[in-house]
Amino acid sequence: MPSNSESNPYKVIYEEARKTAAEAEMIESVMTHISEQFTKCFQINDLKADLTKRVAMLEKRVEMEGLKVCEIEKCKKDITQLQDVIMSTTNKNNPRAKREFSLHEKLHRGRKYTLSQETVEYLKNPSFNNWHWEPNEMLCLLEHMYYDLDLVTYFNINPIVLKRWLLCVQESYRNNPFHNFRHCFCVTQMMYGMIYLCKLEDKMSKLDIGILMTACICHDLDHPGYNNTYQINARTELAVRYNDISPLENHHCAVAFKILSNPDCNIFANVDKETWKQIRQGIITLILATDMARHGEILESFKQKVDNFDYANEEHVAALKMILIKCCDISNEVRPMDVSEPWVDCLLEEYFMQSDREKAEGLPVAPFMDRDKVTKATAQIGFIKFVLIPMFETVAKLFPSIEDCMVKPLRDARDYYEELKQMDDAMAERKKAEALALKKRP
Ligand SMILES: [Zn+2]
Repeated sequence: MPSNSESNPYKVIYEEARKTAAEAEMIESVMTHISEQFTKCFQINDLKADLTKRVAMLEKRVEMEGLKVCEIEKCKKDITQLQDVIMSTTNKNNPRAKREFSLHEKLHRGRKYTLSQETVEYLKNPSFNNWHWEPNEMLCLLEHMYYDLDLVTYFNINPIVLKRWLLCVQESYRNNPFHNFRHCFCVTQMMYGMIYLCKLEDKMSKLDIGILMTACICHDLDHPGYNNTYQINARTELAVRYNDISPLENHHCAVAFKILSNPDCNIFANVDKETWKQIRQGIITLILATDMARHGEILESFKQKVDNFDYANEEHVAALKMILIKCCDISNEVRPMDVSEPWVDCLLEEYFMQSDREKAEGLPVAPFMDRDKVTKATAQIGFIKFVLIPMFETVAKLFPSIEDCMVKPLRDARDYYEELKQMDDAMAERKKAEALALKKRP
């Protein structure tokens, strides 16, 4: 250590590094290597940036191509519709000619349907004829209901998401004879009608109205066309998954929330956590309430509340919502005979499909599904008398306004099918007598 004094300040002696040529070479090589690594690092970063840019561009292109495909599909549908309209307008007796959608408007104003005031009003009526509308028209009518009930504003629903959600729901219904997208539409339209008829908007929260409508739309999603009894007896995947407890209804519900789990289809994406919880719980309760195995229990619970009904009581409102979705689910017979009767054929077709399969698989067959035992009249009378009329009469206690347009048509339908049964019986008697007479002939 050098000494430090005034005459001899701190002295630092620099000693020339004595490097050998080999050491110098090694240092230089290390330095070169480090510099190369730095350069590579920078190059990788550049490459990364370039790749990100290219991926973004590719994603954009895929999106654009996807949109093009959608547009082409839409155009195809429009052309088919246009052909249908041309066909129907050339035949004035065809009820389709009376369609109130303006296709001209649709094609020339960004393919938007225009609903006439008459249609808008008619849509609120329980006698609405569902058979006059094509699936994409029904989508548009459902969309209208969400706007009309102010649900789009209340839940802050993105209009494109609403369209996409409805499309996705439609695609998730199978082409069963009965449990199909048209049935979903009918149930929802009846709920929409009841909301007006019973002035539910004045009595219930917007949240409840949204839950009721959405539960209706989702209530039979991905129905396989075979009921719970079949699922349980055949030990299907659904029955195993849900331990024989309302396998179908649990499945419809799970599919509903699977659809909503896609951000592109989540109409409730903009609600807060607490509201989402209430929506989810509300929809689950309502879809599960559509299992007819729980009919007695749910009706009884509502009956106990109806005479002292209190809209401030959560339990009362919950029971009402359950009974409302049940009413709508089995409300075909409330509609005029020309609308409701084809549904009976659809239901029997689905029942027969099941009973045929049950026979083939050696499973028990319910008599009401057996094509050898049931007729349209016998199928209907018991159901209308013992299920529909008692339930709708109970609801009419709370909403007398449904008496004329819902309960009365049910009584008329009962009388119609009782007459039909008498005719069937007379016909059977005649056939029996004829067969006997033939036998007696020598
Ligand atoms: Zn249903």
